[in-house]
Amino acid sequence: MKENIFGKNLIECETLMVEQGEPKYRGEQLFQWLYHKKSEDFSEMTNFANKLRETLSKNYSLNHGKIQEIQKDSHDGTKKFLIELSDGECIESVLMHYQHGDSLCVSTQAGCNMGCKFCASTQGGKIRDLTSGEILDQIYLIEQAENLRISNVVIMGIGEPLDNYNEVIKFIRIANTGFGIGQRKITLSTCGLVPGINALAEENLQINLAISLHSVFQEQRKQLMPIAEKYDLDALLAAIDDYFIKTGRQITYEYALMDGFNDRDVDINGLVKLLRGSRNHLNLIGLNAIEEVSFKESARLDSFFRELENRGINVTMRRKMGREIDAACGQLRKKGNKDKVNV
Ligand code: SAH
Repeated sequence: MKENIFGKNLIECETLMVEQGEPKYRGEQLFQWLYHKKSEDFSEMTNFANKLRETLSKNYSLNHGKIQEIQKDSHDGTKKFLIELSDGECIESVLMHYQHGDSLCVSTQAGCNMGCKFCASTQGGKIRDLTSGEILDQIYLIEQAENLRISNVVIMGIGEPLDNYNEVIKFIRIANTGFGIGQRKITLSTCGLVPGINALAEENLQINLAISLHSVFQEQRKQLMPIAEKYDLDALLAAIDDYFIKTGRQITYEYALMDGFNDRDVDINGLVKLLRGSRNHLNLIGLNAIEEVSFKESARLDSFFRELENRGINVTMRRKMGREIDAACGQLRKKGNKDKVNV
């Protein structure tokens, strides 16, 4: 099978052109065709001689995934896309409309190995990592299908981005220099892979980092998130401090409220202790309860939020979007795969 050219970075485009006996600057032109102009076919690359276009299409493909299903929430317009990759695996992307622009939540893996108890994406384990091209493709496909420009990207879909480190970093750099999405408009969310956070601090990127916290108590966090066995809360908090020292970027903690589990007064006190006087920010999320597990959405989201706010904590509440659709990460993918098996 021919190698897909979509997903190659500038250096790879340059190398490829030099290998074809072309000058290096043709690589920059190819990069422009792929990401600035979003060409659908080599024949559109009109500043290349016919022969070069032919050689490129003989040696490479310019392929994209297929949107298999779209679900729309009629209240807030959020759309969830089920995308089929070249090997038949499915992933999800979610498009959200905000006042500040259109934001896309992208997946980084087919499935996930992290095993967080409340999350649908991880229930079948990880099938494979996505390539940078497959992550970029989510932006490409949805911009084409919806006729819009994505201005913000949240790397919060299926998968753990720091468990697919190299492809995700490559994706961020191409999204920035190729698609023109500002680094500060890109947010990467991790469940807390400390070596990945340390490595990210050295990348000289201005992206936003979000950490899935969900509990301020090590023992309790471990019950929810197996990764906390490997990298405990103290190690995670130390990595976050270090990240701030190196990058000057404050982080966001994500905290999904679960009824009777992490929505107690002691949790409020713990969060206040962690966050008072800190530059970091807390984002409360209403749990999107999934059938298979016992965690339920908390009934005290509003009062929990107000209490933290009253106590001077820098806190926001994530707007509930896409409630009508299977918005919990991984739910549509699971359904899609099941349907396929039944066919
Ligand atoms: N693996 C990364 C990114 C994907 S999950 C991470 O863990 O951060 C994106 C966010 O959604 C995380 O904060 C995750 O904890 C949260 N999440 C997962 N399942 C959820 C659910 N059922 N309800 C609410 N938030 C959920």
